[in-house]
Amino acid sequence: MTDCLFCKIVAKEIPATIVYENDSTLAFRDINPQAPTHVLVVPREHHANARALAEADGGLADEVLKTAHTVAELDGVADSGYRVVFNTGPDAGQTVFHVHAHVLGGRSLTWPPG
Ligand code: 5GP
Ligand code: ZN
Repeated sequence: MTDCLFCKIVAKEIPATIVYENDSTLAFRDINPQAPTHVLVVPREHHANARALAEADGGLADEVLKTAHTVAELDGVADSGYRVVFNTGPDAGQTVFHVHAHVLGGRSLTWPPG
């Protein structure tokens, strides 16, 4: 998608602090972090939201989840605990319509979320 912010980050047309990348996914730090670890994991391929990702072929949703866990390991929060969040649709406050998993950790996270 030519007009998608995260497609531009995937294409390296817009800079981001990349934490991890492989053939199908890219992980980079959120520009407005809400926790010491706040990383966004995106599939390289454009899908608008979690629903579209769930319907994607080739196990792409698996790849996003595996990369989320890899990020937690790399940031040292895999054992202390972390949260993986897909904001999907208006009630969840999704603002960027290229699906992304937020990986949050490094502090005690409250529940329920706001
Ligand atoms: P959403 O609200 O759609 O779940 O999350 C979008 C996230 O993208 C927000 O947490 C926001 O801070 C982050 N974000 C927005 N623009 C940029 C950007 O240009 N670079 C990076 N690294 N993160 C961004
Ligand atoms: Zn995109």
